Amino acid sequence: TEVYLNGTFMESERARISPLDRGFLFADGVYEVIPAFNGVLFRIDEHLARLERSLGELQIHNPHSRETWQMLCQKLLLRNGGGNASVYLQVTRGTAATRDHAFPMPPIPPTIFMTTAALNAETAVTQPDSASGAAAISADDPRWARCDIKSVSLLPNAMLRQQAVASGAVEAILTRDGFLTEGSSTNVFVVKDGLIATPPLSNRILGGITRDLVIELCRKNRMPFEERAVSEAELLDADEIWISSSTKDVMPIVSLNQKPVGHGRPGEVWKALARRYVEFKRNICCE
Ligand code: PMP
Repeated sequence: TEVYLNGTFMESERARISPLDRGFLFADGVYEVIPAFNGVLFRIDEHLARLERSLGELQIHNPHSRETWQMLCQKLLLRNGGGNASVYLQVTRGTAATRDHAFPMPPIPPTIFMTTAALNAETAVTQPDSASGAAAISADDPRWARCDIKSVSLLPNAMLRQQAVASGAVEAILTRDGFLTEGSSTNVFVVKDGLIATPPLSNRILGGITRDLVIELCRKNRMPFEERAVSEAELLDADEIWISSSTKDVMPIVSLNQKPVGHGRPGEVWKALARRYVEFKRNICCE
């Protein structure tokens, strides 16, 4: 794999950063994961807009214009064979001379790292009629109050995912003060009596790019949809649960805490949405 580090493309084995990098010392940085299908970066403008926002919230200088970021993503993708892959992109505040919590003054150059990973183009949405769905667990959301920033500080998310994997599930779905927030690395939708709902944007969740697309497709296709607070009781009693992310698309959750969700199979509302979703993606990425 070729990676990009601070201005240079190189083999991943050659990439080196200092242990004084604030990303290593304080998780002082942000990231994005941008999917590409047939070599076409999907929703890259939206991802780069969120990157700008995350950097702005942390007062980290954005080293590149949107055009340059896009060019770098495209180049790295091509150098690694294009096709179906995700581009991982990380910006930290940089490598300071000494370990000090306060931001270095004057500011130092940020550290920029990018890599790619193969992506399976066959997700649940590509087979709405034969998808079997996945298992999830529910858990208390232990994270900080700025989950809207896509920060590399992912220890709670990693612990929660591990908890899910240990019980044979793919995701931990989180509640805070009795209300649904999101998954450890996904946004969550519930369906009851045909009505789709997802929690509104706030400091408690990440504004997912896939979440936005799902909402757009629900509205465009006149599927009954609400952005509103969803209680834990509603989550546990939902007919359907979906999780969404750039690498998972929209995936049906058919069991929660070992108990079936609805009939324990992907629901009809999900199937309708999945058909629209895959059609939309094919049109953009000309499959
Ligand atoms: N929430 C969290 C906590 C995440 O880590 C992610 C994926 N990075 C998402 C939601 C989904 O966001 P997206 O659709 O932009 O991949």
